[in-house]
Formats: sequence, C-alpha cells, structure tokens
Amino acid sequence: MPRAEPPVRRILGVRVHDVTMAEALERVAAFLAAGGPHQICTVNPEFVMHARRDPAFFQVLEQADLNVPDGVGLLWAGRVLGQPLRERVPGVELMEAIAARAAQEGWRLFLLGAAPGVAERAAETLRRRYPGLPVVGTFAGSPRPEEAPAILARLRQARPDVLFVAYGAPRQDLWIARYQPDLQIPVAMGVGGAFDFLAGVVPRAPRWMREAGLEWLYRLLRQPWRWRRMRVLPRFVLDVLRARYGRGGTGARVG
Ligand code: UDP
Repeated sequence: MPRAEPPVRRILGVRVHDVTMAEALERVAAFLAAGGPHQICTVNPEFVMHARRDPAFFQVLEQADLNVPDGVGLLWAGRVLGQPLRERVPGVELMEAIAARAAQEGWRLFLLGAAPGVAERAAETLRRRYPGLPVVGTFAGSPRPEEAPAILARLRQARPDVLFVAYGAPRQDLWIARYQPDLQIPVAMGVGGAFDFLAGVVPRAPRWMREAGLEWLYRLLRQPWRWRRMRVLPRFVLDVLRARYGRGGTGARVG
C-alpha cells in the first residue's frame, strides 16, 4: 500500500507537498505499485501565480497526486509563510532519478513533447546513462486538441508505466489532467524544459549557481525571452510579503 500523502503546504493558497527528492521517488514507486492513473506537477512561483488567475490550472494542482517544490522561490515563500518545504525537487532531477530506478525495476518510460527530435535525444542520453532503460516511445506531438487522438493511440500501444510530458506549464499539466482518465498511465508528470536539458539543447546552470539558488538567473541570461514569463516574480515576492506582514492580505485565497 502507498504510504500516506506527504505533508501539504499552501503557498498563496496553492497546494505543494513537502517532500525530499528521496521521498518523491518513493511516492512514484508507490503509485506504480498501486496502479491506476497518477499525476505529478513540479510547482514553482510561476505556477503559483498562474494558478491564482486560472481556476482550471488551480484545480489541476488541487487534484494532482504529487506537487513537488521546484524552485528556490517556493522554499523562500514557505519559510516566510510558515509553510516549511525542506528541499527543492527540480523536475529534471526527479526525472533522472525515476529513470535510474526504472533501469533497475523495468519501468517503461515514454517521453512526449519538446521540439521534433529532442525527446529522442533526451532518451538517448538517459539510455546511455542507465543501460537497459526501457524507453517504449518518444514523440514531439503537440498539446493541440486535434493532435490528441493520434497521441493517445500511440500511448495506448506503447503502454508506458511513466509518461513525461514537456509542453511547458500550464499546458502540459492541463493536458495530462484532461487525458489521464482515458489513458490510465500509472505516473504522468509535466517536466517543462527537462528534455531540452537532457538532449543538451539548453545547458543547465553550473553547480555553484544552482547551489546559490541562482538557476533562474542563469536561465534568464541564456534565454532572455523568459523575462516575459518571469515578470510575475516580483509580484510573487510582494504577495508573499503582503500575505505575511500586510493587514488582511489576500494571500491565503485564490483569485
Ligand atoms: N513545447 C512543446 N510544444 C508546445 C510548447 C512548448 O513541445 O506547444 C516544449 C518546448 O520545446 C520545451 C518545453 O515545452 O521543450 C517547455 O520548456 P520550458 O523551458 O519553457 O519550460 P519550463 O521548464 O520553464 O517550465
């Protein structure tokens, strides 16, 4: 039987689990042992800000089986708001940890999303690193509804145990929530730019920057178009401080 749900924290009303990397991996193993469909989301401050504006996305995060804390901003907010999160669990690292375990246990992986050819190259990297890893499919596809039937057909044929979806948030997470009832894949996880990292299309920040909590800055410098998306971050900081120190801050509620 899967162990009980990990502690739930609320960051500006949005649900996040206080799990370490090791605990997250154990949850994945428990989901696979239990069978039935599960969804994992990798929550960062951009997710939180989006979820507060978008009830459909908020609901996805309410219903997901595991929301790992991805991003230093979330850990900072957790400290300020008295919602402690012990450890950052970056999506790409959880994906690597799952792949390492999959090579031992024989879990069947499917990589869906990113630009054409990228999922294949990401799979090659994983296979090289974890010999014997069963990757049962890779496909760029697209989150557009008219593409769904063809994608679902591929997935039904490949019968993966774990599906990684790289369409960027919130599209990938909405996509999983929409089709999981049909697919019944034991574990489906939105992974954002993880295939790009694994394929070597985009380098990850150097270790010292990650350890200093500056991975977001590195990503902004490498891919300046991210500023648009990151515009919400000062607002995130402000809302967290207001929720903590302001009179009657609206931080605890949605909308
Ligand atoms: N992507 C895609 N189809 C789309 C939109 C995005 O395959 O319609 C892919 C894109 O190629 C990239 C990933 O989704 O691999 C999103 O990565 P990003 O770095 O933006 O995500 P983050 O890690 O910031 O959530």
